[in-house]
Amino acid sequence: MGRVRPGGEGILFSPLDSIPVIGAGLAGSEAAWQIAEAGLNVSLFEMRPEHSTPAHQSSDCAELVCSNSLGSTLPDRAAGVLQTEIATLQSMLLEEARKTAVPAGQALAVDREKFAHAVTARLEAHPRIELVREEVQSIPKDPVCVLATGPLTSEAMAKSIADLAGSENLAFFDAIAPVVTGESLDSDIIFRASRWQAKEEDGVSGDYFNVPLDKDDYEQLVDALLSAEKHPIKDFEAQDTHAKSFFERCLPVEVLASRGRDALRYGPLRPVGLFIPGSGKRPYAVVQLRTENKEGTLWNLVGFQTNLRYGAQEELLRSLPGMQNAEFVRLGSMHRNTFLCSPKLLNSALEWEARPGLFVAGQLSGMEGYLGNIGSGLLAGRNAVRKARGGPLENLPKDTLLGALALHVSEAPPEGFQPMKAEFGILPPLPRGIRKNDRRKVRAQRSKSALASHLESNPFPNPERHSEKPCSQAHTK
Ligand SMILES: Cc1cc2nc3c(=O)[nH]c(=O)nc-3n(C[C@H](O)[C@H](O)[C@H](O)COP(=O)(O)OP(=O)(O)OC[C@H]3O[C@@H](n4cnc5c(N)ncnc54)[C@H](O)[C@@H]3O)c2cc1C
Repeated sequence: MGRVRPGGEGILFSPLDSIPVIGAGLAGSEAAWQIAEAGLNVSLFEMRPEHSTPAHQSSDCAELVCSNSLGSTLPDRAAGVLQTEIATLQSMLLEEARKTAVPAGQALAVDREKFAHAVTARLEAHPRIELVREEVQSIPKDPVCVLATGPLTSEAMAKSIADLAGSENLAFFDAIAPVVTGESLDSDIIFRASRWQAKEEDGVSGDYFNVPLDKDDYEQLVDALLSAEKHPIKDFEAQDTHAKSFFERCLPVEVLASRGRDALRYGPLRPVGLFIPGSGKRPYAVVQLRTENKEGTLWNLVGFQTNLRYGAQEELLRSLPGMQNAEFVRLGSMHRNTFLCSPKLLNSALEWEARPGLFVAGQLSGMEGYLGNIGSGLLAGRNAVRKARGGPLENLPKDTLLGALALHVSEAPPEGFQPMKAEFGILPPLPRGIRKNDRRKVRAQRSKSALASHLESNPFPNPERHSEKPCSQAHTK
C-alpha cells in the first residue's frame, strides 16, 4: 500500500483506495475495522510508542486509560442499550470486550491488557489494514479520512485542527457542570424565569430554572463546598501550563467558595433580576439551570463546574431546595480533554461540514465515554465507506442512543458545548402516560425497532456480509 510520510500541510497519505484513520484508540480502531471489513484498504496511524500521551501506558491499540468498565449490561440501562446497538452494527471492539470480560456483576468490565492485545492483534492480522506507528502532524488532505486522535491529541495535530476549526472552536480542557433531568426537579420550589423578565411572568416562562437559596441555604452550601472531598488534580494536569491558566479562567465552584464567602453570590449564583413567584422577593442567591438540548429534557447547572468527588456532588446538590430527587445525567469534572465545538462544525454523519470527506470520531467529536466513542468510530467508519463509494451518508435514527448522540454533538447549542455520554435523557421524550417503571424498557424497545428498520432499508455496504443498497442522506447544517 503506497503512502507518503506524514509531516507538512496538504499531505496525501494514501492512494484513493486506502483511507487514512488517524489515532488507533477506541474510535479509530473501530473505524479502521469497519472500513476494512467493507472491502477498502486502511492506513491506521498510531503515534505510540514513539510519542505517548500523558495517560496511555502501552503501545497497544484501544487502550482503556482509566476504568476498565464499559458500563451496565442490563438491556434496559443506557449502557446496555448502547451495547445492543453497537453489537447489532457488528462492532469488533465490543466483541473483544465480551471475550475478555472479567466478573463485574451487571457491568461489562474487561481485562484491559487482554482487551487491548486482542484488538491490536485483529487489526494487525487484517489483510486490508496497515498499522503505521507514526505521529501525524497535520490533517491529511485525502478525499476521505477519519480523525480520531482523542482527548489527548498530540500538540502538532491539535494546532492543525485549531487552524481548520478556528482556535475558539477547539477546547483543551473540560470544565463540566452537572446535568440533571428536568422531570426530576421539584417545580413547586424551582421556578422558571430569565433575569429581568416581568415579575408577573416569573415561574411560568423564561429560559432558566432557578433554585432559590435563602441566607441559611447559601451558608450551608458554602460550608459543604469547602468541606466536601475533592478529586485530586493529576500530576500531568498540575504541571500543565494550559491547565493552570484554564483553572484560573474557569474556576470550580469549590475554589471560588474558598476565595470568600460571598464570592459565589456575586459570581455564578448572583440573584439579580430574579424574583420568587408569589412573594416577589429577590432570593439571597440562585443556582440557575439552562437547557442542554432542544427537547428541554436535560438541564445543566450554570457556572457550577466542579471537581468534587461524585458522591459528594450528589449529596450536596440534593440538599438544595427542590433538588431532593435530582436525577443526574452527568456529574461535574475538570480534566484534560481536546474536543471540538462540534455543533458548529460537524453534521450528524460526523463529517466536517467545511471539509467534506473528513470524518471526526471519538472524544474529539464531543462524545464522552468508552462505549460512545467506540460507537462514534463505527458510525464514522461506515460513513467513510459510503463517501469513498460516492454514496449518500448515513445518519442513525434519533430513537437510538448512538443516533441521538450524533444528533447531540451536531445540533446542541454551541455556547458552552461540553462532551456528552450516552444517557436516556438525550433521547426524544416518550409519549405521555407511560408509567415511570416502564420507561427504560420502552426506550430500549424503541431503540431496537428503530435500528432494525433502519438497517433493513440502509444495510452497511459490506461485500462480505451484506449486499449494498442505497442509504439516506445525512442531516446538513
Ligand atoms: C485521563 C482520562 C481518563 C478517562 N477515563 C475514562 C473512563 O474511566 N471511562 C470512560 O468511559 N471514559 C473515560 N475517558 C474518556 C474517553 O472515553 C476515553 O478517553 C477514550 O479512550 C476516548 O476514545 P478516543 O478513541 O477518542 O481516544 P483514545 O482512546 O485516547 O485514542 C486516541 C489515539 O490517538 C493517538 N494519537 C493522538 N494524537 C495522534 C497523532 N497526532 N498521530 C497519531 N496518533 C495520535 C493516541 O496515542 C491514542 O492512541 C477518559 C479520558 C481521559 C483523558
